[in-house]
Amino acid sequence: MRELVLTTASPEETRELGRLLGSLLSGPMTLLISGDLGAGKTCFTQGFARGLDVPAEEAVASPSYTLMNQYHGRLELAHFDLYRLNHPDDLDDLGFDEVVAGDGVTVVEWADRFPDLKLPGLVLHLEYLDEQRRSIALRARGTAAEKELEKLAVQWQQKR
Ligand code: ADP
Ligand code: MG
Repeated sequence: MRELVLTTASPEETRELGRLLGSLLSGPMTLLISGDLGAGKTCFTQGFARGLDVPAEEAVASPSYTLMNQYHGRLELAHFDLYRLNHPDDLDDLGFDEVVAGDGVTVVEWADRFPDLKLPGLVLHLEYLDEQRRSIALRARGTAAEKELEKLAVQWQQKR
């Protein structure tokens, strides 16, 4: 499967989608997330962290100022937010390439600020529909991501 487009009707549902995806993963994966402020990127990532068994004490928040946060679940989770990043070279200072090449899972909010970020993985785009609803499009880049997206689609369908 290459693409899954769905609508969530609440923040809880967006978190649940993230949780489901996180719970499916057993190895490295990169999520490149785009969408305006308030679209739900962090909300999704909170559920995703829960699915990776990140302890609740490690509250997931937007790393807007720190640019990167790390969480410790079944897999290490590196959470980037590139909103305040000025130049792609600054990614080097954050050790971005090393993190992505590592054994953990990487989530990048505002990945579209750097169109050169053509990494394999899942590419998510969130859009505000109304106060409670968001459109979430997930696209797979590469066979590993395609397999995870397939599993997610099946399991999400079973929940409806
Ligand atoms: P972003 O990280 O994209 O800037 P956040 O996840 O921080 O966005 O914020 C999303 C906001 O939208 C939260 O206040 C959340 O409660 C609200 N919201 C309302 N409906 C939804 C939904 N269906 N999915 C995600 N967030 C939603
Ligand atoms: Mg955010």
